[in-house]
Amino acid sequence: MKIIKIKTTKKNELVDITSKVEEIISKSSLGKGFCILYCPHTTAGIIINEGADPSVKEDILNKLSELVPESPDYKHAEGNSDSHIKSSLVGISKIIPFESGKLSLGTWQSIFFAEFDGPRNRTLETGLIKQI
Ligand code: ZN
Repeated sequence: MKIIKIKTTKKNELVDITSKVEEIISKSSLGKGFCILYCPHTTAGIIINEGADPSVKEDILNKLSELVPESPDYKHAEGNSDSHIKSSLVGISKIIPFESGKLSLGTWQSIFFAEFDGPRNRTLETGLIKQI
């Protein structure tokens, strides 16, 4: 299990962590298998989507905030229920196949740590399973 540390700078932010995950896989010498990513936070998550055009990230964050607005009407006293709901919607884990030390991502896919209650210091747990 390797930990990726992420320092976020905004309340809502998608941080590209593709190269950090690639680095863990290339150093593993496992060949072929599956990479598990797990986000141990209740107001963050993981998204795999287009990384080539940064406006896609912006559209995703803007639409999520439109669908799940900040509001004083939630029951949770901490005042960040919108962040908890966004985390629940995008999910907190992913499984990505890899081969020959490289992630088997689609051409336009990148992996993003999704911050919904930043800025904060975050961690992401990674595990690798060898395919036999
Ligand atoms: Zn809370």
